[in-house]
Amino acid sequence: MERLAINGGKPVRHSLLSYGHQWIDDEDISAVVEVLKGDWLTQGPKVDEFERKVAKYCGAKYAVAVANGTAALHAACAVAGIRRGDEAIITPLTFAATANAIYYCGGRPVFADIQEDTLNTDPNEVLKHITPRTKAILPVDFAGHPVDLDRLKEIATEKGLIIIEDACHALGAEYKGKKIGSLSDMTILSFHPVKHITTGEGGMILTNNEEYYQKLKTFRHHGIVKDDSSKESWYYEIPQPGYNFRLTDMQCALGISQMNKLDCFLARRREIASIYDNAFADMHEIITPFVDKDIKHAYHIYVIQLNLERLKVGRKEIFDALKAENIGVNVHYMPLHLHPFYQRKFGYKKGDFPNTEAVGASTLSLPLSAKLTDNDVQDVIDAVKESLLS
Ligand SMILES: *Cc1c(COP(=O)(O)O)cnc(C)c1O
Repeated sequence: MERLAINGGKPVRHSLLSYGHQWIDDEDISAVVEVLKGDWLTQGPKVDEFERKVAKYCGAKYAVAVANGTAALHAACAVAGIRRGDEAIITPLTFAATANAIYYCGGRPVFADIQEDTLNTDPNEVLKHITPRTKAILPVDFAGHPVDLDRLKEIATEKGLIIIEDACHALGAEYKGKKIGSLSDMTILSFHPVKHITTGEGGMILTNNEEYYQKLKTFRHHGIVKDDSSKESWYYEIPQPGYNFRLTDMQCALGISQMNKLDCFLARRREIASIYDNAFADMHEIITPFVDKDIKHAYHIYVIQLNLERLKVGRKEIFDALKAENIGVNVHYMPLHLHPFYQRKFGYKKGDFPNTEAVGASTLSLPLSAKLTDNDVQDVIDAVKESLLS
């Protein structure tokens, strides 16, 4: 076997293959340019069109496009009525935005440990953390694997809680034959460049609830409420301040064009995931992603777990070795409750969530995007095998 790049050998690739990447083609570029030549740069007809297109695809009645996925989470938490003193239950294995959105509204993010197989919030753990102050559950469809929605809905109904599903990883995923997007009270999407489709920055809230829908639109636009029955047509009121969370027409034109390719993107992501699955199937050093029989995975990221007991080196050494080979691996995520802010503010500490901490210490995300060629995928496989086995 050749020498690893980290030991002075020649890297598998001469340039870095990043863990996620957008796909932008000429159609996307013309769609944006067309908007630039027109009258509307922000909040014009493309916003409605994009919202209708995503809502239809996901089977939701309403959609509200906002500036980014974090703003979408923030708006959903506000509209769900999360206020000072309220609690909302989330997984510690997520991006900080999920917890921060609760905090922006004055609420307390309450973590509940994950399942060892799906790496999603464990409904039985959620049950343990419900108190009279609990208002909502924010499950995350980790990596693109939907959470156990039936069980979570049972709990939410029994306890009177709202479900805000953070589906930033899961556009196009399915749960029991239904697309993610209409199965929770509100569903959150992100259009950051590493996600399934991109608008540069962008996010969306999907809902079937008309009251939420109206409130979300108001929240996105400074809290402005217009009453058509008033005598003066310029009249509006701000009963409660909102934010400027608007998404532009330029971005929505890009989003519409990207939506036309979503099924191709998903098919390619699933194909790459199955190539990885097969390549690593007989390696005891690696645990490949679990897929429940009830779901269809959307593979936002491809997360392997290292079987550290079987390895001579740790994750850091493997991570560094892969980076030296120009394979842009990543870690999703460092457990959220271990960040200084959540420890200081909410009293969390190491040892609180054993499953999350074990997973957090052993995962690696391999490059995955619709843009990867078969050669790119093979480079990743070669580099992983060499780094693990040498
Ligand atoms: C990407 C992401 C977000 C936030 O999205 P932005 O559009 O970057 O604000 C929130 N939650 C999860 C789980 C994400 O992956």
